[in-house]
Formats: sequence, C-alpha cells, structure tokens
Amino acid sequence: MDRRSFLAYATALSGTLAFGATEEFSGSTSVLKASPVVVSLLDKLITVQSRVGYVQFNAISFDEMLKTAAYCNKPLTPYEIGYAETIFYGDPRRYGFYGERTVPNLTAITSKSDIQYIDRTGHFLMKGAAIEKYTTIKKLIGNDLVLTSGVRAPVKQLYLFLKKMVSEGGDLRATSTAIAPPGFTFHSVGDFDIGKVGYGQYNFTERFQETDVFKKLYDGGYITIRYTTNNPYGVRYEPWHIKVTGGFETA
Ligand SMILES: [Zn+2]
Repeated sequence: MDRRSFLAYATALSGTLAFGATEEFSGSTSVLKASPVVVSLLDKLITVQSRVGYVQFNAISFDEMLKTAAYCNKPLTPYEIGYAETIFYGDPRRYGFYGERTVPNLTAITSKSDIQYIDRTGHFLMKGAAIEKYTTIKKLIGNDLVLTSGVRAPVKQLYLFLKKMVSEGGDLRATSTAIAPPGFTFHSVGDFDIGKVGYGQYNFTERFQETDVFKKLYDGGYITIRYTTNNPYGVRYEPWHIKVTGGFETA
C-alpha cells in the first residue's frame, strides 16, 4: 500500500472508530493495488465525510457531495464522476454480483423527513417499517443490541465500496461479495445491520451467530435474513443484516 492510500485508510478508519467498530468492513489487505481513480475518489469522499460529519455522510446526496468536495478545494474531475457513474449504472453481473437494483438514480435524494436518527449509534433508519422492526428488536434485546449500520444513500455506499476495493486491490468480485455496489444495497431502502454491544468486528463474522443476541432474535422469528448461505446473489452470508423491505417498488 502506498503512503497516500495508507493515509486514506487511516483517516477512514478513524472516522469509523468514532462510533466503535461499525459497518461491513473487514480490513483485509491485498498486494494488488486499486487503480488511481479509485484511490483519488475515495480520498475526496473522505474529505467530504470529515466536513459534513460521519452521521450526515450516511444520507448525503451525490449533488450535495459534489458541492461539498468543491467547497473543500477537492472538486471531482469529470473522470472521477464518470467512474462513479460506471460503478453505479454498470451491470454488476459482469463481476459476479446478482443482487437487484434498489436505487434507480445516482442523484437520488434521501429526504430528511423520511429518516430518523437513532441516538448514540451514528446511524439513521427509515421511518415506518424499519423503525418498527428496530423498536421491536430493541425491546427484546435491550442494552445488548447495537445498530451497526442503517440508512446508506448511494454516496455512502460508493465510499464503502471504494474502501473495500482498495483493500481488495481493485478486485470487484471480492469487493462485491462483502459490499453491494452503490445502487444495489437494501440499506438505501430500509434494511439495517445489528450486532452485540462490545463484540466489535466479530459482529460482521459468522461468529455473530453464536451470540445470545442472534439466537434470541432468530429463535423468536423476529428477523429475516436477506443473504442466507449459498444465496444466488453472489453475496457472502450475513447473519447480522436485517431485511426490512422487498425492494424499491415497495419503498
Ligand atoms: Zn447490511
């Protein structure tokens, strides 16, 4: 890893650590390198995240992100914008991701009135079904439950995807096994991730299934897992991911 991407990493990780070990990112490193446009785009998104804050960055629109980047003297180049569009609008089946599209436009706006901040988590949830499901789960588990990731608009998902790309040396198949491409995540339309307080990154491994939190929820039939083992979408098994909506046609 070169110095520039190492710095990008360090900054990205410190942003994440502000709320403890959260979100679907495991720091595996690769000897391969992601292309320069991936690294420069990620660097600019990190700048925007520091500017608007970890919480607001979850819901920032693409146009708002462009404005903020320019304001921070890091305007995106046409090439970088084109790259983001390619990732968003391109067919991910070419690299083995078969999940369905959840957001039709890169410039989609997440209305502030549709989301609610969940205290002390760093994350928003969609009002309606997502909040209802979270409230039920929270009541059952109590203080042992942590919301590790909620609403993720396309920009936030692009950021996570690029970050994973850097750690996977630009390998899109390996990247999309762990992180859906922007436009294809159900986090943009209601799904969320939960974990056990104090379990850190283990919340994003199969070890999460061994926790009392998981067992209580699963046995009680409170959760429906979107990405089961051997799912047809090319996505790893994610017992921590809570399915809320059937897709954008219902959102
Ligand atoms: Zn998830």
